[in-house]
Amino acid sequence: MKITIIGCGTTGNAIIPLLNGKITLIDRDIVEEKNLSRQKLFTKKDIGKPKAEVLGKRFKYAYKDIDLDYENISFLKKADLVIDCTDNLETRFLMNEFCTKNKIPWIYTGIVASRARMMSFTGNFCFRCIFSEVKGLETCTTAGVDLSQAQLLAKIVQKEVERIFSGKKSSGLWANGEWIKVQRNPSCPVCKGNYFYLQGKKERPIKFCGSSRYQFKGDFDFNLIKKRLHGKGNSFVYKDFYIFKERVLVKANSEKEAKKKFTEIIGA
Ligand SMILES: [Zn+2]
Repeated sequence: MKITIIGCGTTGNAIIPLLNGKITLIDRDIVEEKNLSRQKLFTKKDIGKPKAEVLGKRFKYAYKDIDLDYENISFLKKADLVIDCTDNLETRFLMNEFCTKNKIPWIYTGIVASRARMMSFTGNFCFRCIFSEVKGLETCTTAGVDLSQAQLLAKIVQKEVERIFSGKKSSGLWANGEWIKVQRNPSCPVCKGNYFYLQGKKERPIKFCGSSRYQFKGDFDFNLIKKRLHGKGNSFVYKDFYIFKERVLVKANSEKEAKKKFTEIIGA
């Protein structure tokens, strides 16, 4: 069975060793020293490298160092199951629309106020039926995800994966050790076939949760910059930058500083 795991942070680190199958790992971030205490699969040697690449090479899994968005999400079509181990709602709404539209089962995981949650979607309701859109999608707790909750969540996910692959329907929402029954919301736009996130939204620099990196996408010529900065390969490091083909990560203490650095090195 082909499983794609989106997010290789604390929750992803706890889940990855518990699963078997043809696995693909997706993550948009770089390993930092402060990750090591909770993200147990990483070591000091991995600092500064893309998370998905480090784990993909170690477990011999396919991997992509990308930020999932409406333009690159179509590869998920090949998955039999998608597991959300991200820390942001925007990606979840996008994933929900894609998986609902393409009838791909998926599992949401989240740790809210240090309490773990898990919900699977097999077609009888969707994520948007339960969670409506909220303001400030980029904001999240800087406290990070609790390791013991992530480990607990990983075991619940492992069981749910087995259930789904044996053809059973979603068990609903699991929250703090309890199962809660979930039903389709009759006014859910996604269940009615309105896919807002799949149509694309305007991009602005975004800060990753629990990271000191900002991401820029769009207006730059990768090959030109690669030549100018003497980079090599499909992605390279330059000073505080990690430069990928379609995006740039920059280490900064604020959005203002990130924009300044980006303009200086990459261009407006
Ligand atoms: Zn729905």
